[in-house]
Amino acid sequence: MISVEKAKQIIYEHLPYPGKERVDLAEASGRILAEEVYSPFPMPRFNNSAMDGFAVQARDTKTASRTKPVPLTLTGIVPAGTRGSVTISPGQCAQIMTGATLPPGADAVVKVEDTSGFEHDTSVEIYSSVDLGENVRFAGEEIPEGTHLLSVGTRLSAAELGILATFGFAKVMVAPKVRIALLVTGDELQPPGKKLGPGQIYNSNLPVLVELSRRGGTHIVIQRWLPDNQKILKASIQEALEACDLIVTSGGISMGRFDFLRQTMTSLGVQEYIWKVAQKPGKPLYFGTRGDTMVFGLPGNPVSAFIGFMIWVWPALEKMQGKEPDPFIEVTLAAPFPRDKTKHRFLFGNVQVEDGRLVGQPAEKVGSHMLTSSLKANAILMAEPGEGALSTGEKIKTLLLPWKTLH
Ligand code: AMP
Ligand code: MG
Repeated sequence: MISVEKAKQIIYEHLPYPGKERVDLAEASGRILAEEVYSPFPMPRFNNSAMDGFAVQARDTKTASRTKPVPLTLTGIVPAGTRGSVTISPGQCAQIMTGATLPPGADAVVKVEDTSGFEHDTSVEIYSSVDLGENVRFAGEEIPEGTHLLSVGTRLSAAELGILATFGFAKVMVAPKVRIALLVTGDELQPPGKKLGPGQIYNSNLPVLVELSRRGGTHIVIQRWLPDNQKILKASIQEALEACDLIVTSGGISMGRFDFLRQTMTSLGVQEYIWKVAQKPGKPLYFGTRGDTMVFGLPGNPVSAFIGFMIWVWPALEKMQGKEPDPFIEVTLAAPFPRDKTKHRFLFGNVQVEDGRLVGQPAEKVGSHMLTSSLKANAILMAEPGEGALSTGEKIKTLLLPWKTLH
């Protein structure tokens, strides 16, 4: 049995370098950026109006008020999306729409509400003075050309996709999806929808692993239930070793009479680096490699499999895509937390902000077979090995589940 720290170190040493591929922006949601992105032009790209109104020379409006409007000669219209053909001289104005190019000569915009409006063809009354530059968005005021915008390792979501589109990128360089095989073992398992026989249970690990893998940026090449049968296991693992970068199994890796995974891996030439980590739940964690393919064996108990994926597979997936895993944060315990003398102890928990600090409530159900402990959880709480329980009010390390919010 090795420590959690040692196991992390071994796994990280065996991770391959992240690759790169160029994909359409429409395909890039959730992917990890594999290039630095700089602004290819200033933003805004040209001086333009922040309002629907009239482009003017500010000094013409100095005395304007509702009781003493200033009449200006209307010289033209500048819709958005055009260069416009008008020039503004003293005493003149042009109708201008939000986002339209500020015409030469103009140095401010009076919003339409402060004028007699768009209806008049030849002349407009200005009811309010404007300062130089008022209601004008100046070229480069938000972002100068060549500004660093996005870093390698960023997960692309609405903000990043919006920025890429803003600057005209049709394609973006991202890490390739990790090709993954999910193999779930156990003679007792039935898929939901089938009738359960005596002693049988439903296979809950497969949907959990599929969901987590999707979110983790994988291409799921194989997702399969397998019986505890050496020959069948061997054939599927061989297939997965050839087709995938990563294999994640559940069950069959412990001390049971029908736990065949370890020996099957060895018989297929998988080099074993880890079997048994000082953690609870999930002690019989397995890690091995064959060529460029990595194999994680998670125990079958549903909480062990779920937490095991998040603690071991998720950060590996992120690193394989060039993203640094999110760090554990510290939260204050709202209830005592069990500790183990020699093992790291993980439990689902719920973290909330209370009086300006983060407070974590560990799940009440502590059994590794009790998947209901994951309901309402937005975090995994982790106690390092130690004597006695952690008390209410003590700090505990916490991994926030990336798809959950704080409540
Ligand atoms: P194992 O690691 O194969 O010894 O399984 C440990 C426990 O987890 C047993 O009670 C199994 O029935 C249960 N288990 C294994 N695989 C699954 C699964 N896919 N879904 C739900 N429970 C499972
Ligand atoms: Mg089993």
